[in-house]
Amino acid sequence: MDKNITLLKGDGIGPEIVSQAVKVLDAVAKKYGHTFNYTEVDIGGCSIDKYGVPITDEGMEKCKSADAVLLGAVGGPKWDSVDPSIRPEKALLAVRRELGLFANLRPTKLFSQLADSSPLKESIVGGGIDLMIVRELTGGIYFGKRRTETVGGERVATDEMTYSEHEIERIGRVAFEAALKRGKKLASVDKANVLDSSRLWRAVMHRLAEEYTQVEYSDILVDNTAMQLIKNPTQFDVIVTENMFGDILSDEASMLTGSIGMMPSASLSSGPLGMYEPIHGSAPDIAGMDIANPIGTVMSAAMMLRYSFDMAAEADAIEAAVNKALDDGYRTPDIYKDGFTKVGCSAMGDVLAANI
Ligand code: NAD
Repeated sequence: MDKNITLLKGDGIGPEIVSQAVKVLDAVAKKYGHTFNYTEVDIGGCSIDKYGVPITDEGMEKCKSADAVLLGAVGGPKWDSVDPSIRPEKALLAVRRELGLFANLRPTKLFSQLADSSPLKESIVGGGIDLMIVRELTGGIYFGKRRTETVGGERVATDEMTYSEHEIERIGRVAFEAALKRGKKLASVDKANVLDSSRLWRAVMHRLAEEYTQVEYSDILVDNTAMQLIKNPTQFDVIVTENMFGDILSDEASMLTGSIGMMPSASLSSGPLGMYEPIHGSAPDIAGMDIANPIGTVMSAAMMLRYSFDMAAEADAIEAAVNKALDDGYRTPDIYKDGFTKVGCSAMGDVLAANI
């Protein structure tokens, strides 16, 4: 296959980690007989410095016309005081909007080799955590009407949480399909004991559950989910939820693994085009030092192969390459412990590419 990938390397450690993912993708292309063509587009602070905007119209077109987009990270202290209308993260919101990325997939995996990195006890995390949060990304309270007004002499602020059936159904389908490709269990998170939007959410999910009979479906309230993620995280396979609940729960879940540098994510549209990025930021404190962990970005590239290119075997090969590197004792400084082999960002990329 011949695929066009737009690379948004971004700021801070972005260029270092994306370059390692490209090394691994090139090794995959060689082994499986594919061609990956890369186009680089500036995004975030580096684009503000060059063009005065966090992404240019031309850059946005190159994202829209690609088969998939791979992002490093944007931002850093240098751009903290720029005009809010051109802040680096504005470019991310713009790309999500322009590409229609309504589904955010965040796998949370505690590699058994790193079990002692989890803040939870061994008795709780057991043989490792492996769950996926599917978060609705373009609806709900973050996109609802908002206003601040004066009522009876004091200010009153209102944010509306709105969901329509078609928005719930399309994220529900992504979650059921993801469950089918994984452990065939889906928990839908809501607050149906209080919110109308949650009651509609639950009704639509129940309709879909009747269609996806191979998936073991359950409802769970958001407050209980927050507890269960700490008490018994291994019970979960796929979790689906609305925008704000997902924002909070996915950060909670990512901390269970204790290593932010390892976690990938995917943002999907209704077609094959998606954007793939590690969950961490641009880590300005370690930028340019060749010590960043590239595994989150490399695992994001694996998700790109699986979800945008339908290359399951190739994605499996990348995940196996990461497992082998950990089995063989290679560790970047963020996950290093005595007795293991400390490697930098670039050397970890070499090890992973060689493992393909
Ligand atoms: P951060 O995720 O960049 O860093 C938090 C801590 O984790 C730092 O100590 C950092 O060194 C470490 N870390 C992060 N990624 C790592 C990796 N791959 N390997 C090893 N260590 C790693 O969060 P922050 O410091 O709050 O934010 C820094 C900048 O990134 C800010 O400008 C913020 O706005 C931006 N940001 C961007 C994104 C994005 O582009 N999607 C997401 C979050 C934050």
